[in-house]
Amino acid sequence: MEVVGHAATLARFRSAMAAQTLHHAWLLYGVKGIGKRTLAEKLAAMLLCEEQRDCGQCHACKMLAAGAHPDLCRSGVLEGKRDVSIQQVRELLGFLALSSAEGGRRVVLLDDAERMNQQAANALLKGLEEPTAESVLLIVCADIERLPATVRSRCMLESCAPLDDQQVRYVLSTQQPAIDAAYLDLAVSLADGAPGLVQCMQDKQIAQALQTWGELVADLAHADVGRIEAWIRSQIKLVPHALLVRSVVQPLAPALQQQHGDYARHAALLQALEGVLRWPGDVVRHTLRAGPSLLAQLLKLRAALLA
Ligand SMILES: [Zn+2]
Repeated sequence: MEVVGHAATLARFRSAMAAQTLHHAWLLYGVKGIGKRTLAEKLAAMLLCEEQRDCGQCHACKMLAAGAHPDLCRSGVLEGKRDVSIQQVRELLGFLALSSAEGGRRVVLLDDAERMNQQAANALLKGLEEPTAESVLLIVCADIERLPATVRSRCMLESCAPLDDQQVRYVLSTQQPAIDAAYLDLAVSLADGAPGLVQCMQDKQIAQALQTWGELVADLAHADVGRIEAWIRSQIKLVPHALLVRSVVQPLAPALQQQHGDYARHAALLQALEGVLRWPGDVVRHTLRAGPSLLAQLLKLRAALLA
């Protein structure tokens, strides 16, 4: 199992294992799409491997590869559900309380921890306060602010950073299916350190749509609004909203850093930009129609750029 990036976390984990001072709960947090889940899978494999290093050869590693290791239990938001339930957390803790089937550790991998509801978080807290010997909880969280401080304070906190562009390029060109070489530069740029966010560009139709969109909004102040409107009408359903926003915002970064003097104009620009950044959330929160609401935000931003 290959982990790209996150070398410091891996090194700390290895040395804690070697020194037998491993904390019973590791909380891996950082933005979406940077490989936290893969990192957690790697740590689980190291814990369960007979050689303690994800050797790939031993009985434990072979069971893991076959998806059938009895001492690993995974959980996270289930398909079609809004949050991680108390029932799910109780199952995980119940699993940890049983003795190991293979005579080693019991490992739990909890993904999407930011989506635990209050009851689930309380149940997890109880488990963290009364750890079971030889058990390790690996918790993956994309928004640590949403976890209660009481949960955070009982975990070993590992901040996971976005990858650098070279690492992103490596991930995107070696994954299966790889992103078409023609779109790789665009994908690396849009990923901004989080290759998981541009997985959809494995689909050439989506990659092509994003490329066209990027060209249309590259110079928003002088863009052809009619063509933007036409693109939105025909393609918006195809492309994740977050990536549409990135395409709009990224070309504006240099201009935002070079503002001199005119504070009112700068403030108006930031406000218009915030409207665009908020748009994907607003569509969900207020059940807006995606196309017209995006166009409205873009026109505001364009007016602020031209002011
Ligand atoms: Zn092994």
